[in-house]
Formats: sequence, C-alpha cells, structure tokens
Amino acid sequence: MDLISIRERLATVDEALVDALAARQGLVREVARLKVEGGSPLRDLPREEDVLTRVVERAREAGLDGFLVTRLFREILGHSLRTQEAALAPGSATAGGTVRVGYQGTDGAYSHSAARRHFGPRAGEASYHGYDSFEAMLEAVEGGELDFAVLPLENTTSGSVTSSYDLLARMDLALVGEEIQEVEHCLLALEDVPISRIRRVFSHPVALSQCARFLSTLSDCHVEAFTDTAMAARRVRDEQDLSQAAVASEEAASLYGLVVLKRGIADQRENYTRMAIVARQPLACDLRVPCKTSLLFVTRHEEGALLACLSVLADHHLSLTKLESRPRPRNPWEYLFYVDFEGNLAEPDVAQALRELSARTSYLKVLGSYPSRTTAEARPAEPRPRASLPSTAPAEAPPALPASGEKRAYTLASREHRGEDTIVPVAGVAVGGPRPVVIAGPCAVESREQVRACARIVKEMGGDLLRGGCFKPRTSPYSFQGLGYEALDMLAEAGAEAGLPIVTEVMHPADVGPVAEKAHVLQIGARNMQNFSLLKEVGKVDRPVLLKRGMSSSVDEWLNAAEYVLSQGNHMVILCERGIRTFETSTRNTLDLSAVPVLRERTHLPVIVDPSHAVGVRRFIPPMARAALAAGAQGLMIEIHPDPEHALSDGPQALTFEMFERLMLSLAPKSS
Ligand code: PEP
Ligand code: MN
Repeated sequence: MDLISIRERLATVDEALVDALAARQGLVREVARLKVEGGSPLRDLPREEDVLTRVVERAREAGLDGFLVTRLFREILGHSLRTQEAALAPGSATAGGTVRVGYQGTDGAYSHSAARRHFGPRAGEASYHGYDSFEAMLEAVEGGELDFAVLPLENTTSGSVTSSYDLLARMDLALVGEEIQEVEHCLLALEDVPISRIRRVFSHPVALSQCARFLSTLSDCHVEAFTDTAMAARRVRDEQDLSQAAVASEEAASLYGLVVLKRGIADQRENYTRMAIVARQPLACDLRVPCKTSLLFVTRHEEGALLACLSVLADHHLSLTKLESRPRPRNPWEYLFYVDFEGNLAEPDVAQALRELSARTSYLKVLGSYPSRTTAEARPAEPRPRASLPSTAPAEAPPALPASGEKRAYTLASREHRGEDTIVPVAGVAVGGPRPVVIAGPCAVESREQVRACARIVKEMGGDLLRGGCFKPRTSPYSFQGLGYEALDMLAEAGAEAGLPIVTEVMHPADVGPVAEKAHVLQIGARNMQNFSLLKEVGKVDRPVLLKRGMSSSVDEWLNAAEYVLSQGNHMVILCERGIRTFETSTRNTLDLSAVPVLRERTHLPVIVDPSHAVGVRRFIPPMARAALAAGAQGLMIEIHPDPEHALSDGPQALTFEMFERLMLSLAPKSS
C-alpha cells in the first residue's frame, strides 16, 4: 500500500471512531433521560470499573496498549458523567437552543478551552464569545447579552485571581458551575527554529511568570506582556518574524498554525486553573449530583466571629474546599470572606447551616450550588453523616403569634432569632451600641459650600455621620428634586474632608449599586418603605441600610420591610422612626415615641429617631430629640441648614447651626 491509500484508510477508520463516539453519546443521553425520570443514582462506580476492565481486556486481545485505552475511556466516561449531570441540572442543560458563553481573551485562550469542555456535553448548541476584560464579560451576563461566562478563580501555582473575587462581590451574579483547566504552557513559533534564535517572547503576564525559570535561560531575549496567551500566539502568526515566539497552549498553536518548540515550560509541572461558570440566576442542582456551594460573607464585629462562622459549617459536617479573604471596599482593615464547601443548597442540612450562619454574619451572599469538579471526579460522592443538630430549624418554624395577637411574619428581624442587640458598624462608628449616634446634615445637598459648612459644624459638635439628600422624594413633582449624582459627589467630598461617613437616600433600584460605591449608608425613605424591589436590591449589597418608617405603617409592617432586606443577606439594617400620620395637625406628623421601646423588645436591630420630619417645626425638635434618647433610641437624625429661610427643601424644620450647637451641648452628657 502506498502512503496515499493508507491515509485514505486511516481517514475511514477515524470517521468510524467518531461515528462510534456519536452513537455512544446518543446512548448516554438515553441513560441520562432514564436516570432523570427514574431517580436512580447518577454514578454507578462498580459499573464504571466494569466498563474499564472490559475495554482493557478487549484492547489486550486486539494487541493494543491497555494504558492508551484506559486513558481514552476515562475521558469518555468523564464526558458521559458530564452529560448526565447536565441533564440533572436543567438550568444549564435543556435551556432550549443556543446558549451564548463568554470568556476572556481570544480563540484558543485557556478559558476558551474550559468553556468548550464545560458546554460541549450539552444537548443544545453553544456559541463562544471572547471579551477584553472580566468586567466587560460579566457586564454582558448581567445585561443579558451572554447566558454564561467562564471566570478564572484560582490557579494551582499563582493562587487566587483576586480581581475575579472582587467582581463577584460587586455584581449581582450566580455561580452555576466550575471547570478545571489544565494549563500546559508551550513555546510556539512560526517554524521549527532553534530556541537560541528567539529574540522576543509574548504572553500573558501570569503565563510569563509561571515560566520565569525557563525564560531566564534564553539569552538575549526580550519578554513582552500581552492581554492573553492566544493573542500572543496570533501576534506571532501575524508578524511572520522567525525570531518571535509566544507562550501559549498547544491548542493555540494548532489554531494559529504555529509550531511547538518546547512543551511543558512552566516552572511547576502541576498547573491547573479553576474557573467558575457564572450566570444571572442560580441553578437548582439535583441531589444526586455531588455539588459545591459558594458563599461570600462579612462577619459581625465580635470576638472569634470568623471561627464561629466556620464552626457552623464544621458542625454540619460540611467540608470546606476554599477560604479566601479580600479587603472590604470602603472599610479599611475589614474583610469579605469567600467560602466554598461540599454541599448543595437543596439539602436540608445545608439550608440549616446557612440559617445559622446568617445569624453570625452581618452580610451573607449565597453565590450558588453547582456540580463539583475538584472533588467528585477524584472521590465518589458519599452520603454525608447527618449533623448532630436537630433538623427542625428554630428559624424555619412558623413564628409564634405574640400575646397581643398582631400578625407578624418576620423572623430574622426578631429578638427570638437574635437575643443580643445588633451593632451596625459604619466606617468605625458603631450604630446600636451603648453610645447614641448623631446623624445630621441638610435635607438636600444644594451646593458644595452648603454641604461643606454643614459637615464642618456636625464634626465640630461631635456628630457621627453626615446626611444629605441627593435624590429627593418630593410630594410635588414641581418641587426641587435634588441634584442627583452631582450632589452625591459633593456630599462624599464634604464627608471625606470632615472625616464623617455619609448617608443618603436611594430611590430607584438601578441607583443602588452606584450610590453604594460612594455612600457609607443607604437610606430608604418613608415613601419607599414598602417598595419591595428597592428593598430586595439594597438587601443584596454590602452596605448598611437606614430604613425609615412609612408614614402610615405599623411597627410590624415596618419590621417585615426590614425582613426583606435581611432575607437577601444584608443584616446591617438601622430602623428610623420619623413620625406617622394622625389626625393631629399642630406638627407635620406625630412622633410615635412608643415605637422605640416596642421595637427594642421585638427586634435586635438598632433604632434611631428623626424628630425633624416627625414634627416639622424647628423649635419643637430639640425637646423631642432629648425625649427620643430618654425613650431608648440609639441615635438621632437631625436636619440642619446654614440658612434655613432659603433652603430648597424642608426649611421650616432645619435647625440653624446655633440651635444645633445648643442641642448637641444639651445632649453631651448622654452622648459622651
Ligand atoms: C429625608 O430624610 O430626607 C426624608 C425624605 O425623610 P422621610 O423619608 O422620612 O420623609
Ligand atoms: Mn427632609
């Protein structure tokens, strides 16, 4: 036989191999369907062993190397397992038609390979889209341009990809999968030239640092950083210069028609990257799939807080696979903790552990449960020993009706859920502790000078936080509506200059993220107390919330509004009584001071009082401020203005600076 005819026959055999694989995959899909319907376990380890033994025997009979066949079949069985897993996680698998998957980099980047490995076993099709940055890619998921994105989280040699973690904290996204990508760096060039002729090497900075030892052996060679490894390979192809090389994968070599000069050039042989599959919505995972769950939390300001959180997982026999801490934005020397553990949110034990964890954190964000790649493959899923704690959760039980018979549904906000007072830390100021706090500032930010003057007097008189409205919820659409983001900048500047954290109202869910970037506390105004979409949105960010009482709301409706925020994971809620509607017209509203002791009994959340909006008349504010503290309020919110007669909003209730000074002096014994 001549070479040509042998090659023709090889092509026929290869086609038959591919056809056989396709036929096998068809049968695997059938098995997946039966397992989903019949509820049988996902994995049958003795059967997997059996398959391997049989094919190895068959290979030997046919005169083939058992090692080759074992390797191939491990890959084939892995693919089959993924197919079945995908069928059990319908969110990602049967989403009809094509899914759009994003990755950072260009064709042939390691993330691109991981994306293809992950989405390959799906029944439907997937299209892959490269992005310049992680941020642009995740924004495309948020905006609906992409269904999924592949985000590198950590590498076995270079450690955590911290920017990925920071993006997950900031954005509202879920984790629905993970993928392990083996990284094998190769030196690629246009042609098979001697390595000593290479004068320039391009690659991603991380890849370059992982190959530092090898690269240092190249003499007279310049190393240049690129945005991704595949891009570097493309550059070598485009420039057609024989003295240039790229550090990238073998896949990139074949994609860009380059030659591998040397394989495995990384300093450390074992080099894997763990990538997260990110989506807008979390996935419901079948209990038969061995899963991991990822969380992000901020501990309470208490001794041993992190240990207490981790003990909750240990007590429930949930094994930790990753713990990472990142600086908490805007809160120097405070940390956000990321935890991955083996377990599925659908398991009662895991749900119970999260309830207990929620009582020990001031902010908890559940990123999602997803099929594990780091544990399941190596170790078969074993039923976990039951937790020793009773499985009926106290927090799960329907709350008992209080003696007076009023309806309530809130649990996380209740004293039963947490006996001790919650302290909400705001950039070093403890709200809810033994010392009452004073929040003061103008109703609305009107100018840079106005808010700076307010900030100065607040600081001088020992106030704790600076307030100022940027988005004003005015009763009439013709009244001054606030200066918006321009005002927010002025408020932030004035606060920073005086050394005061700032609080401002947010009115629209879309403003929550941007306002949280600048303000230390997000205020929900009385008119929005039951704006549930707004409450859910502030519940998702790591920022304290000052929740004002609706002017016609009962204490329990108010606590249920707080529950909306808490239930999303944000446990930093401060309640603010600001007067309610009654038949009395002598004051703007009626200050319901009895709400203070009632709340102190029903909830662990801090309670403060805003006498300014409650009475609406300047001269009545100081006595009511003192009365509020006497009633047990843990703080005050007071409106002030350098020139109340010309204020653009709420002038009649703004204290002059002189009145504010006198008020603060009269409170001094209490607040020191
Ligand atoms: C405010 O504090 O600026 C405000 C508008 O208050 P309320 O929502 O209580 O009316
Ligand atoms: Mn006001």
